[in-house]
Amino acid sequence: MNRSWLPLFVALTLPATSARSVTLVEEGEARCVIVVPAEEQTLLDAAEDLQYHLQKMSGASVPVIHDPTKVQGVGIYIDTKPKTVHVPGRVFDRSVLWPDGYVIEVIQFDGKTGVFLSSPVTEGVRNAIYGLLEDHLGCRWFTIGSIGEHIPRRRTVTLDIPGNRVIAKPAFEKRGPWYNGNANRHLTRGEIAELNKWYRRNRRGEPRGTAGHGWHLYKPNELKQIDEDGDGVSDLAPVVDGKRDPAQTGNGLCMSHPQAVDIAARWFIDFFNARPEFDHWSFSQGDSMQFCECERCQAFGSNHGAHMLILSNRVIQRVNKVHPGKRITIMPYQATLEPPQEQLQANPNLNPIIVSMGVDQIAAKPESPRFRRQVERWMSILPRAWSYDYISWTSGPWPLFQTLERTRDFYRANGYTGVMDEYLGRNLGTDIHLWLSLKLAWNGQLHVKDLLDEFYPTYYGAAAQDLRGVYERIETQMLSIGPVTTSMTNIPRLYPLALVDECLADLARAKRKVADDPILVARVARDENCLKATRLWLRFWTTLGEANRTLNRQARMKAAGACRAYLDFFNNLNGTLTLGGGGMQVTAARLASGLEGSGTYFAKPSGNQPWPGPFRYYDFLDQGGKVTDAKSITGFFVGPQGLYLKPRAAGEIVYDFRTTADLVFAEAHFPGPRAGYQVALALALPNKIEVSLDQGTTWNAAYKNLDTSIPFYQHDITPHVRGHQQFLLKFSVENTTDQEILAFDKWVITGKTAQQVTQQKRRRKDAP
Ligand SMILES: [Zn+2]
Repeated sequence: MNRSWLPLFVALTLPATSARSVTLVEEGEARCVIVVPAEEQTLLDAAEDLQYHLQKMSGASVPVIHDPTKVQGVGIYIDTKPKTVHVPGRVFDRSVLWPDGYVIEVIQFDGKTGVFLSSPVTEGVRNAIYGLLEDHLGCRWFTIGSIGEHIPRRRTVTLDIPGNRVIAKPAFEKRGPWYNGNANRHLTRGEIAELNKWYRRNRRGEPRGTAGHGWHLYKPNELKQIDEDGDGVSDLAPVVDGKRDPAQTGNGLCMSHPQAVDIAARWFIDFFNARPEFDHWSFSQGDSMQFCECERCQAFGSNHGAHMLILSNRVIQRVNKVHPGKRITIMPYQATLEPPQEQLQANPNLNPIIVSMGVDQIAAKPESPRFRRQVERWMSILPRAWSYDYISWTSGPWPLFQTLERTRDFYRANGYTGVMDEYLGRNLGTDIHLWLSLKLAWNGQLHVKDLLDEFYPTYYGAAAQDLRGVYERIETQMLSIGPVTTSMTNIPRLYPLALVDECLADLARAKRKVADDPILVARVARDENCLKATRLWLRFWTTLGEANRTLNRQARMKAAGACRAYLDFFNNLNGTLTLGGGGMQVTAARLASGLEGSGTYFAKPSGNQPWPGPFRYYDFLDQGGKVTDAKSITGFFVGPQGLYLKPRAAGEIVYDFRTTADLVFAEAHFPGPRAGYQVALALALPNKIEVSLDQGTTWNAAYKNLDTSIPFYQHDITPHVRGHQQFLLKFSVENTTDQEILAFDKWVITGKTAQQVTQQKRRRKDAP
């Protein structure tokens, strides 16, 4: 008992400047051991990583053991200690280190020295290991994979902890920037493991819980039973166009209904009873939310943002009576991004994520005036917020490092406590962008400029100036083009071919400078391949534009070849951690088959749907956009936004839709704005839509003088095509004005296919 007093007393009374220098390795010989509990895999992995780094650093083999009483020399005690030693950091409350901070202490006992890594949570102990390596031993993990590691070499490794104790607490509680599924789709399992290791090493972390979409807790069966007026439709179904719409139940919600609070509160209370380890859980509307337009909802709050907030406030108040301190996640997003107009105060246990969808993603966020106003207003109401921005939506190079800091400063000044930005692609600069994001999230005192001043020379050696030049020129170009929407048509302006060529020449020269160091060559080559891929994509895009302008078969084949060349180059880099998918790659992959084929085949499902089943065909007719699968186009001319008509001219566009041999069309319709598609027939102006089942000999009118503002179910062509394997679809547009018009820009058809054989069998069975 008495012995445990002494080290505590010493540790607390040492002056802050005095550090006890601890020798971990001396002239390549281990002078320490790593002690870690055998039963905790997370910590075992991190302990082995610590061993790996010390070995790379000095050549020493540092043993990993599990029994704290068997330590020879210095012990690095990971979440463990000899019984008789008092380690003050082990009794810290989680709120002091929230959510995954840690304590590193150097303590002397029984004539020995111990380095103690502790935290109230496992993730915190893991962060202590990487904090030791990064903050005290100089290791860096700039990019994913072994070529991204920087481990300083020295034969003798000493550790100097100021005041013999470091208490580290992250600046941001949520540090979760992430590469999304498209960015990761082409990574192998091994590469995904490398990515996750890189995240962990850079102390990515968060409170425990999820922040996803969907009001999964409103179960359809439960909702159905709430029907006081007895009309067979749940009273919680949203009122749409004057009536409660059962089709929208669970998607939308009558948020002002008292039962909306009851159901959610009960769900969260049960959830936290069963899963007390979670700090928060998601209470966020889905993507295609249908908001209730009933009178009570209209009186409930000034707008959808207010509705969401009032409902969420009531739910968390009830939940906190049983589970104090637990939080729920809400999402000011799309329809709820506009802040409430009235004076409201958010409950301190709401965990809001403010999503910048639709906002310019290139300029710093405070430079978008509307979004700036929305954030400032929300933050006068909310207790905190986490950012949700979209990085690298092009999936092209993304060295936008200066705007990252300006955006982060703006968020911090407004009270944000987290970042969960989504990276939509991987390319030159995205790893560094994410690395900077994590560094600033851990330590709010850091600056991008200082981090980059360290990054370029450390990572590129003698090629640092050349690489900095390349990164900065691309950054300057991207910032110069002004606010842009996230449309693929903007990509050639962001990365002009001449600039890409210049940068490639610089990289070739830089690579020669570092030719004697294979790691440096690999680092430069990775960037070089990113730009080569970008160049191939730009060439494809140019040929695609030509094909669309001329509507010429030969030009289309040329575009198909350029598309294939890009995709082949991209795919050949799989396994090298160079590129991830995303915008460019997804667009090219989608267009490849259409460019090479003729007619529109539905032999494959959309997404992960069962097959035969749902299909979907988009046609973006803007010149840079999608190559059309149309069988013929007459009368129109192709312009920047789609198909145009001269004054008093008429145009026709015909599509050839087919299924594969054993399938038939079961349904087909044009979704409208309410279906959650941005596209549909919103801008198109067809006077007539016709269907032909005999290769165009006879035509059946499906719609005349189409009103494109009405919901999709009124634009159903199922009766014309059901049971058939092939049909022609013709849109006719007339320009009755004296001005040139944009006649047809983009549209979508969706539907379902079915097995032909099954249908015939059923028909026979049903026959008398
Ligand atoms: Zn309502």
